[in-house]
Amino acid sequence: MSDCIFCKIAAGEIPADKVYEDDKVLAFRDNHPRAPTHVLVIPKKHIASLNEASGDNIPDIAAAVAAIPQVAKADGVAESGYRVISNCGEDGGQTVFHLHFHVLGGRSFGPKLFRGDTAED
Ligand code: 5GP
Ligand code: ZN
Repeated sequence: MSDCIFCKIAAGEIPADKVYEDDKVLAFRDNHPRAPTHVLVIPKKHIASLNEASGDNIPDIAAAVAAIPQVAKADGVAESGYRVISNCGEDGGQTVFHLHFHVLGGRSFGPKLFRGDTAED
């Protein structure tokens, strides 16, 4: 997609700090990291979000998921652990509408999803 920033990164038109690449997948460091390890794993194919996880998109999404442990291992967080997030849509907090998995590690997030961990927080 011509106006998609992650498509441009996948095509090499915009620079990124790449940590993993294969024919279907690219992983690069988030430019606004929220943890010592904060890598975005994307399918190179333009898939807007997990809402499009069906049909022909499945092999590309599966390849992105399979790359996650490799990214974690390469960054040294596979053993200590890490968190994977994919924000989907407006309420999910998605700001870039090209499917991506945030891989966050190098610090402890604890068992809670959110600070207060109630339905309202
Ligand atoms: P979302 O909010 O959609 O789940 O996550 C988008 C992420 O992409 C954010 O964490 C943001 O910091 C990151 N991001 C946005 N633009 C760029 C960019 O041009 N390069 C890199 N490396 N990360 C980006
Ligand atoms: Zn895209």
